[in-house]
Amino acid sequence: MYDIIIIGAGPAGMTAALYGARAGKKVLLVEKEFPGGQIVNSPLVENYPALPGINGADFALQLQEQVTALGVEITYTEAGSLEKQGDFFRVNGDDALQAPAVILATGVHHRGLGLENEEALVGAGISFCAVCDGAFYRDRTATVIGGGDTALQDAVYLSALCKKVYVVHRREAFRAAQALVKKARSKSNIEFVTPYVPLRYLTRDGVICGLEAEHKEDGSLRTLETDGIFLAVGQSPDLAFAADLAPLTPQGYAAAGEDCRSHVPGLFIAGDCRDKQVRQLTTAVGDGAVAATLACEYIDSIDSLENN
Ligand SMILES: Cc1cc2nc3c(=O)[nH]c(=O)nc-3n(C[C@H](O)[C@H](O)[C@H](O)COP(=O)(O)OP(=O)(O)OC[C@H]3O[C@@H](n4cnc5c(N)ncnc54)[C@H](O)[C@@H]3O)c2cc1C
Repeated sequence: MYDIIIIGAGPAGMTAALYGARAGKKVLLVEKEFPGGQIVNSPLVENYPALPGINGADFALQLQEQVTALGVEITYTEAGSLEKQGDFFRVNGDDALQAPAVILATGVHHRGLGLENEEALVGAGISFCAVCDGAFYRDRTATVIGGGDTALQDAVYLSALCKKVYVVHRREAFRAAQALVKKARSKSNIEFVTPYVPLRYLTRDGVICGLEAEHKEDGSLRTLETDGIFLAVGQSPDLAFAADLAPLTPQGYAAAGEDCRSHVPGLFIAGDCRDKQVRQLTTAVGDGAVAATLACEYIDSIDSLENN
């Protein structure tokens, strides 16, 4: 029996584990892949306070070491169900995975295009985060793929750094806010490549050097020379398994405020899977700290009720 089970060992989950363990709680992390979450895909993190230039995998490893040194256990399994019976949550119907408090920190996965070699090129020219990785393309050429707010925001952001920015979208019209589209159109170094569908990543020495795209109507091909490709075709949280307890927004995020509490006592939501505006390392670790602190308070409150 644990005090707190945390589902997802990314930055949010591991920070929650750190806070829970330091508060003297017995904490279990449930992780389906490996500790670290999305940040292990980042070769260089430049916006985490006091750790400029850290490699994402090193960040994850240091956090894992910090957490396990405090006695936090990690079990490698996918949480496929979550139920609450009385005061206790149970993961996967497993009696060994029971606790009075659960923190959901399952993050998001960014959708890709499913083109050949895509996974291997993440971190080698393909990125999902302009704010994080845009600086690598200063004075170079970057390509953003997508037609929503994120794509247009990324394009505007990159236009301030890059020599040239292509925006590739499969339609002429953009889903993004019109003010954003107008702003992007006003930038002289942004070129819109529409309606084009990406076909193939081009590489040199294992690193992106271009993109081949096909005109959606006449089938003609166009090759864009580009140093980086930013995929902004959506991201998906992985919370279907907990949807009975944690109501999800239409986009699939778990609804919880800045205090990370869900409407179910003892259930907290932390990190990128929470419905919020900014999804970054700093906000993920902030959520982890808040969720664990309030989870500890919750456990202490039910303990004191039982002891009275
Ligand atoms: C390529 C890349 C570069 C980035 N660079 C930066 C940067 O430079 N600076 C910055 O601030 N942010 C950056 N980010 C964003 C940052 O990584 C995320 O905001 C942060 O990792 C979110 O942390 P999280 O713990 O909420 O979720 P995640 O990191 O997504 O971790 C969630 C964890 O939960 C696990 N999980 C999911 N479902 C289950 C389940 N059912 N059962 C068990 N385990 C499960 C996953 O395997 C994963 O380990 C980058 C993201 C990417 C993809």
